[in-house]
Amino acid sequence: MKMYILDLGRMYVDESSFVAGIHGGTYRNQNPVAQWIPFPVLAVLVETADGYVLFDTGCHIREADLPDGYDTPSPFFSSEEQTIAPQLARIGVKPEDVHTIVISHLHCDHAGYLYLFKGADVYVADKELTQAMRLYALRGFGPGPYKAPDFEAFLAADLNWKLIPEGRLETCVAPGVKAISIGSGHTFSMTALYVELPKSGNFLFAADALYRPENLGPPPRIPGLIFDSIGFVNSANLLADYAQEHDAKIIFGHYQPQFDELLHAPEFYE
Ligand SMILES: [Zn+2]
Repeated sequence: MKMYILDLGRMYVDESSFVAGIHGGTYRNQNPVAQWIPFPVLAVLVETADGYVLFDTGCHIREADLPDGYDTPSPFFSSEEQTIAPQLARIGVKPEDVHTIVISHLHCDHAGYLYLFKGADVYVADKELTQAMRLYALRGFGPGPYKAPDFEAFLAADLNWKLIPEGRLETCVAPGVKAISIGSGHTFSMTALYVELPKSGNFLFAADALYRPENLGPPPRIPGLIFDSIGFVNSANLLADYAQEHDAKIIFGHYQPQFDELLHAPEFYE
């Protein structure tokens, strides 16, 4: 069994988007300066006895196109080489070799290349897909992290969705790999990935349910960008308990210092 962590580019954001009030004013520092920080976009490929499992797919390269005069709170920087297909190619894998996808949620920095995996089973929380599609059908998407071109590509690719029902904690997708349903918080409904490796130990990929350590706590601190604050705290506590019960290392969704210390493909955990 091998597990590869794929580097799919960088985004930048005001740090308070990840931890609300992290640079709040104080009596002695009444006007603190905002901190603009880089964060990684990542995916995980697990080679199992039943084939490859991919967790997330990164951000489409079109989002790295920043026309003159365009502004955004979270710009994306990447090269074509840093997108999912070339990164898989570095370890000798083609998109058509991957038969199982687990998608944490449908924001653009996670689902941007989902359409490449037409023949695969795509595990996603039922509520995430149906609520995001409902939003898209009723009023389209604004400038937020769900992107209409992504959803158009999902529909055109006729993906083989496997919906994870609310309330089912674990869905086994391959030997030693489980999708963990953690409910609403960052979005309508989030899915984490749990991987048991014989030598390297157990890993729990939290995606944006935990951007970084402050969100985990204890006590959990909510982000500035959030869909459901109570749900976010509940999912943070669920992940903390799950990691403890399974002796798993939590991998944060967008935390550059931790990401820098991980092995990156073509190196692997086993
Ligand atoms: Zn994200």
